[in-house]
Amino acid sequence: MKAWKVALIPGDGIGPEVVAEGVKVLQAIEKIDSGLSFQFQRFPWGCEYYLEHQKMMADDGIEQLQNFDAIYLGAVGYPGVPDHISLWDLLLKIRKGFDQYVNLRPVRLLNEELTPIKNKSEKDIDFLVIRENSEGEYAGAGDWLFKGKKEEVVLQTGVFSRKGTERIIRYAFEEARKQKKSLTSISKANALNYSMVFWDEVFEEVGKEYPDVKTESYLVDAASMFFVMQPERFEIVVTSNLFGDILTDIGAAITGGMGLATGANVNPEKEYPSMFEPVHGSAPDIAGQGKANPLAAIWSVAQMLEHFGEEKWGNIVVDTIKELINENKVLTPDLGGKHSTSEVGDYFVEKMIGML
Ligand code: ATP
Ligand code: MG
Repeated sequence: MKAWKVALIPGDGIGPEVVAEGVKVLQAIEKIDSGLSFQFQRFPWGCEYYLEHQKMMADDGIEQLQNFDAIYLGAVGYPGVPDHISLWDLLLKIRKGFDQYVNLRPVRLLNEELTPIKNKSEKDIDFLVIRENSEGEYAGAGDWLFKGKKEEVVLQTGVFSRKGTERIIRYAFEEARKQKKSLTSISKANALNYSMVFWDEVFEEVGKEYPDVKTESYLVDAASMFFVMQPERFEIVVTSNLFGDILTDIGAAITGGMGLATGANVNPEKEYPSMFEPVHGSAPDIAGQGKANPLAAIWSVAQMLEHFGEEKWGNIVVDTIKELINENKVLTPDLGGKHSTSEVGDYFVEKMIGML
């Protein structure tokens, strides 16, 4: 039997509320499947920790997390702690520390009533965004020139290395080949005349090794429009760090909102733990009220199970989410329901067991 070691970082705001429901789901699976077990360890890192220790996580945090198979994160960020601190001192530290260079964000409509777009059904909105997760516009490279003067100039540089660009594009081609899907690269070479010209070149070059994969290439502005007007164009998308971040918020908007969007930060070589998290933030406006939708965090559990090679369970979890939405009986207020976070989690487990 495989005992998977899962580090829990519930974090701030609604983070702990939704993580609790994801853990419930894993514990239910462990009870049903005698071949699976999970060992959880909780880490109290986040903004409260920051206010006490002036840092978001322990100095040796990366070492402490190193031997886990996965990290399950709720959300970090809270009023009173600047967003760039919570992002850089925890989330990006983990992503970079464990070389989680692939960000997998499914854009999948589970029920046509969830999309604000007219005349689109589940089969029209079903694709995977593969976002570069280690460099690009998030490299943290920049400077403040002439600080304090009226003529301030600030530089923020995108960093695109051969290694970083090629490995994400290669990962996307492999995935497209495996799934027999088309691959769309999204860039902006007309305006970003170094980084995106390079990106396009690498995409074309690597593509020559995958003649069986059908490819498309779009500018990010056109792609943003197609995400809304013609989402059926996309099967697998590969794009840079910043573009992927923005585009997947559009992806969330067309599939039911932040309460359903999930993201996996993957180190494909499995040399280090990968991290699974809902895309949403700590949502201080609804924290502590039992209003948070746990389904995004539960979808993250499905991604974790897939990463562990338990595709069967991953599919069962997503099918159960779909069933809950179709049934439209026990849902949180963001999806028009009147049930609480933990009621949805309890009902989810009941439903999942009933569907087996
Ligand atoms: P952050 O700065 O960490 O991104 P945020 O305040 O921007 O946090 P988000 O989580 O990004 O909050 O989401 C924006 C809004 O969407 C929230 O304020 C909340 O009202 C709603 N929301 C987000 N996640 C959920 C959820 N799981 N369930 C219900 N509503 C949510
Ligand atoms: Mg936000």
